[in-house]
Amino acid sequence: MSYAIPIWPQPALPVAGTDQTFPVRRIYCVGRNYAAHAREMGHDPDREPPFFFTKPADTLVQNGGVMPYPQATKDFHHEIELVVAIAKGGRDIPAASALDHVFGYAVGLDMTRRDLQAEAKKMGRPWDMAKGFDHSAPCSAIVPAATIGHPTKAAIWLKVNGQVRQSADVADLIWNIPDTIAYLSGLVELFPGDLIFTGTPEGVAACGKGDVLEGHVAGVGDLKVTIG
Ligand code: MN
Repeated sequence: MSYAIPIWPQPALPVAGTDQTFPVRRIYCVGRNYAAHAREMGHDPDREPPFFFTKPADTLVQNGGVMPYPQATKDFHHEIELVVAIAKGGRDIPAASALDHVFGYAVGLDMTRRDLQAEAKKMGRPWDMAKGFDHSAPCSAIVPAATIGHPTKAAIWLKVNGQVRQSADVADLIWNIPDTIAYLSGLVELFPGDLIFTGTPEGVAACGKGDVLEGHVAGVGDLKVTIG
């Protein structure tokens, strides 16, 4: 058997401090997982169940890379997020053992075409074209949990051209990492290589061509990308 068309590279992220890469299978994202961000988007964050959307694995942009300004938007927003990398799959994973499934953590950006998302919300349509477009998932190297443990309290921030736009703490996640893995694995079977973008804090805003985005999660790492 041979491939009918040339096979493309396996999407992957470096593993910090090693010469290994982490092959990426699927990218799941949590919506409205910080109360102040839910409010800025016009929602009441009263612990409604978490909801999820996806990005294709080949939307990843490597740390230090250039992210082209996307097609079809005039309102291109940054969302800085803590990213969880799954090493061990499963379905209906209990929250109590969910962290056993985690390989490590990274700093990611859930880039969003906010104008397309607003239209999709208004029309009751899916978010795929607002969230899952090309180059929409910049992500740092993954730091193994074996090295840093599991972050429960850590500063998370994003600067655009040196100015702080988002600044919060991952302790403010509505659904923490074990809860998120438990919920998501009750909807789909998780597999090794899956990433979970855990949601963004308040302060999302538009960015433009030439902007330099620098993100940070304390103890996890830094991410820097430029919009081309
Ligand atoms: Mn997000």
